[in-house]
Amino acid sequence: MQKIKKVLIVGTGIGGGTLACALADRGIEVHAIDNKPSISAAGTGICLLGNTLRALDSIGLKNDCLERGAPFQMFREFDATGTLIMASPIGDNCGIKRPELSNILESHASRRGAILSKSISVESVIDKGKVVLVSFTDGTETEYDLVVAADGAFSRLRDRFFGEEHRPKFAKQSVWRFNARRPSSLDGFHIFRAADGTAVGVLPTSAENCYLFHMENSQEHLRYPDENLDSLLIERLRSYEAPLIREALEQITSPADVLFRPFDVTLVPVPWNRNRVVLLGDAAHAPTPQLTSGGGMAVEDAVVLAQVLGEYSADEALKMYSQRRFDRVKRIFDASYQLSVYEQNPLANRDKSAQLLMDSYRFIAQPC
Ligand SMILES: Cc1cc2nc3c(=O)[nH]c(=O)nc-3n(C[C@H](O)[C@H](O)[C@H](O)COP(=O)(O)OP(=O)(O)OC[C@H]3O[C@@H](n4cnc5c(N)ncnc54)[C@H](O)[C@@H]3O)c2cc1C
Repeated sequence: MQKIKKVLIVGTGIGGGTLACALADRGIEVHAIDNKPSISAAGTGICLLGNTLRALDSIGLKNDCLERGAPFQMFREFDATGTLIMASPIGDNCGIKRPELSNILESHASRRGAILSKSISVESVIDKGKVVLVSFTDGTETEYDLVVAADGAFSRLRDRFFGEEHRPKFAKQSVWRFNARRPSSLDGFHIFRAADGTAVGVLPTSAENCYLFHMENSQEHLRYPDENLDSLLIERLRSYEAPLIREALEQITSPADVLFRPFDVTLVPVPWNRNRVVLLGDAAHAPTPQLTSGGGMAVEDAVVLAQVLGEYSADEALKMYSQRRFDRVKRIFDASYQLSVYEQNPLANRDKSAQLLMDSYRFIAQPC
């Protein structure tokens, strides 16, 4: 039985970073590269749900996330003035800054023996059947038993091996995000709903910090001038009188404090491999973020792929990986998309949306 011994991971985001840790743990030789100069991701925060924490725990990463992030168990809903509408316990979750999560993955991967290289990409990838010959942008060349495309929703490796028809499509929604100091009243995931159906979500990311987000619906793939992002966001949130939101908005001092991003989605049918090139994370499935699960699915992919590669022959392992992941990922992708469609007519779909959210979180909590 021919097992995988040497792996190249292209992309050290949440999926690639987790895979580097999980494979190195199993004694598999790992080289992980990223075309960005720093492996640490920029941006705001991310919510690690209970299933994601469980997957991280299985490879010894959960405790660092809890220590450096913001564990929480409460969900609260308010109106736009800040009056509490409902509160509910939601199990164990953890908000964390994206750069902090990257640092945890990066340091664990290095300590476990993975080689991490920054500011480098692949120039060419030649599938030779049982091995893959990779030329890098620094002029070097190496053979691997397996290449993992963990290079995100706009994966160039996916274009090359699976065709351009899987490129992400606009989901008619975009998101505004910014960081703020964490107020003492923020004890979990809080959502503020205005009478017009719009909302602002707030997630703690550390003992001191939180991030806020606000969705915007549009038929067109929107882009705003970078220099206007602060004033455009402040204008959009002017009807929110809740003190938490007013105080957070006052902390925006420049357009660079505000991120705006359209949602572009894709789901690649299985199998997720072409010979010895395999997709992982957003490269295989980039959902809308309503269920805060894209990163969690990438983490689960990594844990499952490392497990099957450690235990089975290459061909068996790659087949099992697609089989074990697809139905779960598709259900979460479809539900996320449906929630996003509901949000485009939020007042008419409030009850359906609440029901789908509840059912989906129950499903996500099940073991992967
Ligand atoms: C607004 C928003 C909120 C979200 N909130 C959550 C949440 O709360 N919880 C959650 O679980 N998920 C959330 N997600 C989803 C989550 O961010 C993604 O699913 C996750 O980042 C996917 O991880 P990944 O490693 O597959 O890809 P990425 O994080 O995109 O990483 C890809 C990496 O590949 C590198 N790369 C790209 N091209 C190349 C190349 N050619 N060569 C070398 N390297 C390359 C990039 O630099 C990057 O480091 C959210 C998404 C959005 C948009």
